Amino acid sequence: MFVDSHCHLSFPGLAERVDTIRADMAAAQVERALCICTTLEEFEAVHGLATRHDNFWCSVGVHPDNEGVREPTEADLLERAVLPRVVAIGETGLDYYRLNGRSVADMEWQRERLRIHIRAARAARLPLVIHTRSASDDTLRILKEEGAEAAGGVFHCFTETMEVARAALDLGFYVSFSGILTFKNAVDLQAVARFVPLERCLIETDSPYLAPVPYRGKTNTPALVPYVARQLAALKELPLEAVAEATSANFEALFRTSSKT
Ligand SMILES: [Zn+2]
Ligand SMILES: [Zn+2]
Repeated sequence: MFVDSHCHLSFPGLAERVDTIRADMAAAQVERALCICTTLEEFEAVHGLATRHDNFWCSVGVHPDNEGVREPTEADLLERAVLPRVVAIGETGLDYYRLNGRSVADMEWQRERLRIHIRAARAARLPLVIHTRSASDDTLRILKEEGAEAAGGVFHCFTETMEVARAALDLGFYVSFSGILTFKNAVDLQAVARFVPLERCLIETDSPYLAPVPYRGKTNTPALVPYVARQLAALKELPLEAVAEATSANFEALFRTSSKT
């Protein structure tokens, strides 16, 4: 049995066919999924997925790439974090990949938004779902400054270096691998996956993005997460069952879904 620790089933293209997606998940032995929130405006739809389906849970947060959306206060996040199906704060983090002509100094609003999420996660005692791209130094620095260790969490869709993986593990965080791990050119990332101890690994699809090989370029769904597990098992020279079992147990240890009604 597999778990998809990060998907966006409220996005157009997936939201209209959740029943088919769920049937495909069942056929692929994907038992559970965490539906990730990226704006406050979207929260109701994401939360609806988790309340309607007993093997879906959700997060609350505003993605660093989202501009022109409602800026969350700590109270906005906490008010939603207390709902029984909400098991994480995020996705949050920093993304300096597309600066659109701005400098890193101009991105203070992203850093402030991340700080708000960390404070909410600590107050709510929920783990953080961290998105970091071209910004790992600042991400790690702010996580440390704000005491994110107390909340814990995961670096989702990990594409960073070995050094960043080590820093994430030192903070007590999990590292989540996506379909990128199956890409032929992801040699450095594959080395990172060999390095991260199995008891700190999660797997995800980040659906609808990043479908694993042999579906690269197609719309991703949680039913494809076993391909990530298979690749992780191959890299670690472990049986697939061991990776399925461990990543599912890690998901439970981090998000404590079975204690939520
Ligand atoms: Zn992300
Ligand atoms: Zn995401």
